Amino acid sequence: MLPEIENLLRLQEADKEIRRLQDEIAELPKRVAAIEHKLAGTKAQLEKAQSAIKADDVARRKHDTTIADLRGKISKYRDQSLEVKTNEQYKALLHEIQFAEKDIAATEDKILELMLMADTREKEVKAAQAELKAETAEIEKEKAEAHQRTAEDEKELTEWRAKRDQLRSGINEDLMRQYERVSKFRGSGIAEVRDQKCMGCQVILRPQTYNDVRTGQQTVFCDSCQRVLYFNPANEEQKVEPDRHKRPKRHHPKIDAPQAWYYREDYAGDGEALLCFANGGGQSSRRVFDMHTGRLLGDIIIREGDFRNAFPEDITGTIRLNGHWSEEEMETWGTEMPMVALDSLHADLDAARYEMTHPSGKVKQPAAVPTGQVAS
Ligand SMILES: [Zn+2]
Repeated sequence: MLPEIENLLRLQEADKEIRRLQDEIAELPKRVAAIEHKLAGTKAQLEKAQSAIKADDVARRKHDTTIADLRGKISKYRDQSLEVKTNEQYKALLHEIQFAEKDIAATEDKILELMLMADTREKEVKAAQAELKAETAEIEKEKAEAHQRTAEDEKELTEWRAKRDQLRSGINEDLMRQYERVSKFRGSGIAEVRDQKCMGCQVILRPQTYNDVRTGQQTVFCDSCQRVLYFNPANEEQKVEPDRHKRPKRHHPKIDAPQAWYYREDYAGDGEALLCFANGGGQSSRRVFDMHTGRLLGDIIIREGDFRNAFPEDITGTIRLNGHWSEEEMETWGTEMPMVALDSLHADLDAARYEMTHPSGKVKQPAAVPTGQVAS
């Protein structure tokens, strides 16, 4: 790849980061504004609840005045009733008195209603006040965070801008102009070529253009979108040789190895186990470990002769694993296998099982051999 193209790629990275930071800086005040808007809503609610209490107070005073007025009237009617001449006049005054008393009762009911309502109003005010307090605290926190974030972003932005300016100075002026012109219209000024296609506009390149990009000896532009083109062999190879990224082939344990490890689904009712056999001096030894904890199960058993002949019943129905640790080393384990050994046996068991279910096309391999024994 031309060094200028590498610079352009780094420049594009810087431009992207600068845009991201600018967007973030612009976004933060909007978030604060949204919370402030919510705060204003809560404030309005509180004011509404408070003014409702005030309105109730005014109504209450009005009712008190009404009652006082009515009582005044009643006492006046009573005075007048002492001086009336006719029965008719007396009845009329009595009627007026009854009427006023009814009014008093009705007004007293209204006062009672207001008193009952006062409780609810008080609760509303308290709730709104608590909410306002919580929201105010939240907005203060948000504002402080936004402020700090903005300061950090600004600092990063300055660094990226300096980096960008430095990169620009290392790029040919014409190339720079082309990159900027296309960036402005298309959002990016450089595009990768993959499978003979411009990844910027998805148009297939002419074979000559494709070759020029691959060779990397000159600057090439996309005929269709005008972006500067580059080629990354790593991305293309991945497609050509997908097998490269497959599971690595498993190493197979040797049949005549002096030490052999096996996995058993169940060992003497203790569940999954790892068995280790070792030959030496005409004798063989057997260690059994818990598959999950690596704990040594039971004693180390020594028998005469090769382990295949000495412990045939233990080897049947097992999966042979890769593993070798010296006698001295295993003695330092005590009653528990170290994690690193346990992990390596687990990994090898996974690989062995994978092989059993995915027999390779090239190597002839029995699907599942009970003793797992295949010569390497
Ligand atoms: Zn293109």
